[in-house]
Amino acid sequence: MVGAGQASEIARAGDVIALDGSTGEVLVSPDAEEIRRFEAARAAAKSREAELLEDRDLPAQTRDGRRVFLFANIEFPEEVPSVIAHGGEGVGLYRTEFLYLNREELPTEEEHYSAYSSILERMQGRPVTIRTWTWAGQAAHRAPLARAQSGAGLRAIRFTLRHPQLFRTQVRALLRASLHGTLQIMLPMIAAVGELREAKVQIESIRQELLREGKPVQEKIPIGIMLETPAAALAADRLARECDFFSIGTNDLIQYSLAIDRSNRDVAYLYKPLHLGVLRLIQASVDGAKDAGIECAMCGEMAGDPLYALILLALGLDNLSMNPADIPKVKRVIRSTTLADAKKLLEEAMAFSSHDEIERYVLNQMQERFPEAFEDAGMPASGPPV
Ligand code: PEP
Ligand code: MG
Repeated sequence: MVGAGQASEIARAGDVIALDGSTGEVLVSPDAEEIRRFEAARAAAKSREAELLEDRDLPAQTRDGRRVFLFANIEFPEEVPSVIAHGGEGVGLYRTEFLYLNREELPTEEEHYSAYSSILERMQGRPVTIRTWTWAGQAAHRAPLARAQSGAGLRAIRFTLRHPQLFRTQVRALLRASLHGTLQIMLPMIAAVGELREAKVQIESIRQELLREGKPVQEKIPIGIMLETPAAALAADRLARECDFFSIGTNDLIQYSLAIDRSNRDVAYLYKPLHLGVLRLIQASVDGAKDAGIECAMCGEMAGDPLYALILLALGLDNLSMNPADIPKVKRVIRSTTLADAKKLLEEAMAFSSHDEIERYVLNQMQERFPEAFEDAGMPASGPPV
């Protein structure tokens, strides 16, 4: 849980804390009745999860045969067992910036290498998408180096291209680790074709350097990009010709398309994944990928909310990457539906003009189709992932 206001000031060491991550409730020193309520909620959640996990080894495939892949977003190598336990078919986003947090000096090439090879090995041949240096959201305040790079400034690929030495350390480790599993390299916040070209030139020269040193590197390592700006989504057809896969980062794509700062509460009400403009940008990204014959994934928070599963299925996403615990819920929805029905829902939803109308319509339709999964769901809470 994040954004719990003054909870950490109110609570003292040794206090009993009741925390419900699904509702956002935190109680300091709960009474007996409250403890019973939280324990009952935990037991119910566990049995719901156990029931959903019965599908763990089944594919995320609709009843009429559309197969999508459900991957996991992780921040630490230690999360891999949870990915596998929840039926994750790969890692769609490893946020490497967590390697840089809570320390003064930069991680060495060996530290990068050890984290990457550990994930690749533990995933036992399943694809692992490792994103190069980026800083985003709340992570930014924790490391001095990051301060200047959050938001729309010198962050992600922009920062990396400005600091080739830093990129080199990370890429050397990635290429060396490539022999330990199925690696895909993902470049964040590519807004222009020139950035992609420049990054690829650097990666190739690092590869040559390693080969000259006699260090082996996997022959073909897919290089993909995150689509996180409206400009990139609208130029997706051209970007797709020069990379191996896309992954849509809706957390940033939404903030930049609606001109709202992810960390500004005053405009959180406008953070709307089902805004027609956002849906059209996703559509443009998928179409660009399809024309060039590459895969289009999504790894923003939108991908892990079962409320959007039919919409994303119909938009043509090939791969959805989310928190490991969300995989079973999204899989259940996908396995219970047909692509034809999802397309119908999308078409009807996109006939509305306001995001409120679209949201209400999608929520009602999902409740009708999946009463159990959405029985107590209200309109989606506004606000960006932090
Ligand atoms: C995104 O922007 O959707 C994304 C996955 O990246 P991050 O949340 O790390 O900025
Ligand atoms: Mg992002």
